[in-house]
Amino acid sequence: MNLPKPKNDELIFLPLGGSGEIGMNLNLYGHAGKWLIVDCGITFGDPIYKSVDIAMPDIVSIEDSTKSLSGILLTHAHEDHIGAVHHLWPYLRCPIYATDFAAEVLIKKLMDVGLEREVKINRIKIDSNVKIGPFNIEIISMSHSIIEPSSALIKLKHVLFFTLGIGKLIISHKLEKVLIRKG
Ligand SMILES: [Zn+2]
Repeated sequence: MNLPKPKNDELIFLPLGGSGEIGMNLNLYGHAGKWLIVDCGITFGDPIYKSVDIAMPDIVSIEDSTKSLSGILLTHAHEDHIGAVHHLWPYLRCPIYATDFAAEVLIKKLMDVGLEREVKINRIKIDSNVKIGPFNIEIISMSHSIIEPSSALIKLKHVLFFTLGIGKLIISHKLEKVLIRKG
């Protein structure tokens, strides 16, 4: 199964996990022929399915389209946002973008499965701009129960799309400035 090729003037949202549920976040954004993955997390088993320890997003719909993946952007280091990377990366094989803290947590997980030399991690800074493939992204500082939490503001020519990396939106001074600036 192949992902469609997004046009230059469109942004396609494809939620594979975490939208309308808690845990295993994995959302895709398609633009100008490429796809960006935001987060790649797990969720934990519940009392109903006692034999299930963790669950991960089902990526069968994208694993034939790895050439069109620009990267995986991680918003913060909680398990429901980064906990599936070391399990699923062999099927995705694209560069990762993370802050220093999330990168260090991820490296430990990659070492557990012998992938630490294979996976390219690009370090990003909070409150900075990053270009991942055709995506121009502003990394916005958020408030959350872990250090370096962020959300991504995807900036297209005429549209800003705010991806909420964490469950609670507490508008930071920086985000407030962006929202006011963009009207
Ligand atoms: Zn979190």
